[in-house]
Parts: sequence; C-alpha cells; structure tokens
Amino acid sequence: MEDNTESFARELKAVFKGELLFPTDTDYPEARRVWNALADRNPAVIARCRKISDVQTAIRVASAACMPTAVRCGGHSLAGFGSCDNGLVLDLSGMRGILIDENSRRAYAQGGCLLSTIDTATQKVGLAFPAGVVSHTGAAGLILGGGTGWLTRRFGMSCDNVERFTLVAADASIVRASARENAELFWALRGGGGNFGVVTQFVLKLHPLASVLLGSGICGGEGISGVVRHWRDFMPEAPDDLKWNLSLQLSRESTARPGQGHHEPALAETIAWLGDKTSGGHYLNHILSIGNPTHVKRETVSLTELQTMADQEFPRGRRYYTKSGYFGTLDDDSIGQMMEALASIPSPSSQIELAYLGGAAARVGPSEAAFGSRAAPYIVNILGSWEQASADAENIGWVRTLFAKLRPAMAPGVYINFMSGDEEDRVQEAYQGHWRRLVAIKTHYDPGNFFRLNQNIPPRRSSSGTRREKQPD
Ligand SMILES: Cc1cc2nc3c(=O)[nH]c(=O)nc-3n(C[C@H](O)[C@H](O)[C@H](O)COP(=O)(O)OP(=O)(O)OC[C@H]3O[C@@H](n4cnc5c(N)ncnc54)[C@H](O)[C@@H]3O)c2cc1C
Repeated sequence: MEDNTESFARELKAVFKGELLFPTDTDYPEARRVWNALADRNPAVIARCRKISDVQTAIRVASAACMPTAVRCGGHSLAGFGSCDNGLVLDLSGMRGILIDENSRRAYAQGGCLLSTIDTATQKVGLAFPAGVVSHTGAAGLILGGGTGWLTRRFGMSCDNVERFTLVAADASIVRASARENAELFWALRGGGGNFGVVTQFVLKLHPLASVLLGSGICGGEGISGVVRHWRDFMPEAPDDLKWNLSLQLSRESTARPGQGHHEPALAETIAWLGDKTSGGHYLNHILSIGNPTHVKRETVSLTELQTMADQEFPRGRRYYTKSGYFGTLDDDSIGQMMEALASIPSPSSQIELAYLGGAAARVGPSEAAFGSRAAPYIVNILGSWEQASADAENIGWVRTLFAKLRPAMAPGVYINFMSGDEEDRVQEAYQGHWRRLVAIKTHYDPGNFFRLNQNIPPRRSSSGTRREKQPD
C-alpha cells in the first residue's frame, strides 16, 4: 500500500512547477544540508520554488497531506529549522530577485534573498539596509526574528526597517501586511519569526551609507577583563554612530601576540564608526588605547567590505551550538565567569560574543513590534564551533556550563535568532508580555500550526482549523 509520503510526493509532482529533489537525486545530498552540520536531516522532498504560485502549491499539497514543512531561505538557522526529517523543505533559494527604487529609498526583495543579495544591490546606489554581520545569512530568517548588525544602533533593527510584507499564509492565500493593511500581522512579523506564513517579498527602507571607519585589535593576558569592564561602562553613553563588538576567543595563528604561541586567551575587538571620520578617529584612538592591543588596524572600508569581513569565520558545514541572553547590567562576577570559561574553551573556533544594542533600536517602543526585549542592552552569545561529531558532548557541555553560571544575573528574554534547537522552553520567555497577542495572531493565520518548524508560537487549541474573518485586534 502507498504510504503518506509516497502519495504526497506523487501529488506534488503532478502540480508543482518548480524543481523537486528526492533522496535518489544526485543533487539531493548537497541540497539537504544546512549551515549547521549538527542539524543533519533527511527531508522526503525538497521543493525549490521559483515564484509565489510555487509556494502556494507546495503549501496546499503539504497541508492536505499533513507533511511537516520546513521553510528555508539561507539555511542559517542555528537550530537547524531550515530542514527536517521525512517532510518537505520549501526552499526559496530560487527566489532571490531584488529591485531598488533609489528615489524612495526602498528595496523590493524576494523571500529567498541573502544579505549579500541586498547589500550588492543597494550599494550600487550608495544605500544600505541594516542587517547582520555575515553576508551568506538568509535575509528572511534574520529579518523575521529581528536582525542586528553593524548599522543597528544608527538605523534600528532589520525588522524596524520593513515597510511591507507579502506572504503566503497557511491556507495558501496571499496576504499583505503593513501599517495600513493587516496591522496586527505586520506587528507580529517584526520579530515573530516564521510562524505566520512564507514571506515572498519584503519592502525594505534604505539609508544612505557607503563607507565606515573601522578599527580592530587583539588584547591578551591580564588586559582582557579590563577592556570588557571599560566597554561595559563606556557603551551606555556612546553615540549611535559607534558599534564596538567584543569576542572572547583563543588567539589564532594570525592573531597571536608577539612572544606567545596561538590558542592563548584573547579578546578580539572590532569598532565600526558610521559618522564623520574626524570624530570617529577620536573614538577609535580612545578605544584602541585601552588594554594594550596588538594587530591594531584603522581603515576606511566600503560597506560591502564591512558586511563580508566575517564571512570566512563562520563557514558552512561545521558543528555549531549556541546559548544567548541579555544583561541589564554586566557585573564583575559575570565577567569573571567568562574569563574562567575562556581559559577552558575546548575548540579554537568557539567564542563568547559581546554586543551592546541601545541606540535607534532601543528607541522603538516595547509594544511597537513583536520583537521580544529591547530593555536590556548587553547581548551575550556563547557560540560553540567545532568539526568532529566525537567532540559534540565536550563542546555543547562547555556552552551549557557557562550559560548556567551566567543565567542568574541575566535579564529575562532571549533573541530568537540566537537560540539552539533544544530551547523550546525559552520561546515564551523570548516574547514575554507579547505572548498572548502573538498566540491570538497565530491562531488567526495558522490555526493548525502548519508553520511549526521554528521558534514556535502554538495556536490556541480550540480553533476549528479554518481562518476566521475578523482580525484579533
Ligand atoms: C553565520 C551566522 C551569522 C549570523 N549573524 C547574525 C547577525 O549578525 N545578526 C542577527 O540578527 N542574526 C545573525 N544570525 C542569526 C540569523 O539571524 C538566524 O540564524 C536566521 O534564522 C537565519 O536566517 P536564514 O534565512 O538564513 O535561516 P533559515 O534556516 O533558512 O530559516 C530560519 C527560520 O526562518 C524561517 N524562514 C526562512 N525564510 C522564510 C520566509 N521567506 N518566510 C517565512 N519564514 C522564513 C524558517 O522557517 C526558519 O524558522 C547569524 C547566523 C549565522 C549562522
């Protein structure tokens, strides 16, 4: 007898106009992989969509067959939500078109665009969209979860810079959401992740910016904790044009301090200044005078260089595990815990990333968008990165141990895009006071929880499975 997967595949083949890949196809082994090798999954079918009607068809057939469905843009979900076992992957890599309207400073980006797609197009006319720091990240996953990067303090988060979304909902209908149209959905899509449908187009607000002043240096030894403390005290008063990020890591061959071998505890700091170069020079001089950094660089770089400089550091195919949280204030004990953990990092590619939000992102009111928490400005991301499956337990254990030590001093909340796949219990924490409103919107647009392979907001159980007419305002 034909099983459900076989009949689903047969029905999809009959109506789907894009490209379908099955486990027996030559391209399947590469196509099934996502960025994080820890998420090693084998979908039954990969449906590469080329246009909005392909997305509608895939959703219609998968929904009727109750197939688990993963939606993939860049495949960079740390939790591995861009793939699934024995289900459908709705792959948007064939939908990376983008149009720029220079006069209105808007980009019309399809739902499969990578950050590099957007940067390449916008920089041709000297405009920029505030997004993440690695150009091979998918724009859709990043924007729907929030989106932070080098430009966030000046222009706000990525989700704050979306004017309109077009999506295919769980019933395969096309829905538009903006401040004037389906305003509740518009609110939910700015931080609520992939819960509400497949976004096929984003209308993005752009800003003039073509180059930045960039500084960097490596600190070591006793100086490291002093720099972290200085950064903690300095950033709350810093201008929006300044983004100063820290990474606690082991020194690489290229960053070893004179007279020392590599794999020594180190602090890599990067400073981006978006404003006028003279003032920026003063800030860079001040920051780079602390902690006796080596490998110091000061240069003006193009926005494209800024946005791609970390690309090599996070290659596809390694094993990654992360835990993240916010601090309202960063006390000396927590910094001490990080220093201890730094001395016992099991992998030279792992790191403790420290960023300070604030600026334009913090001036958006807490209820203006679904994004969880903007009140606690220090973001700590403990990122384990290694190569061998045999080292999983040791590396995951290191991340979890440090997180458990830091957790009591953290503010409630977590950024959904920095969550691992085993943190389902933290999704409600991520949204805090927005939870009930999000559940109501989810119940309206996806009562059967078709879009559940994500940081899931489950609909209310009593729903009938059909979309109601009235919006939950
Ligand atoms: C190397 C690296 C660097 C990163 N840097 C940053 C950073 O600087 N700033 C930051 O904020 N985050 C950053 N992140 C986190 C990143 O925002 C998330 O991993 C994000 O989910 C990646 O999006 P994606 O489209 O590539 O992922 P995917 O795995 O393709 O999808 C992620 C989620 O989004 C949903 N989704 C994808 N496309 C759509 C769509 N079109 N419509 C509806 N739902 C969709 C999926 O269902 C899934 O739940 C980084 C991640 C990595 C791996």
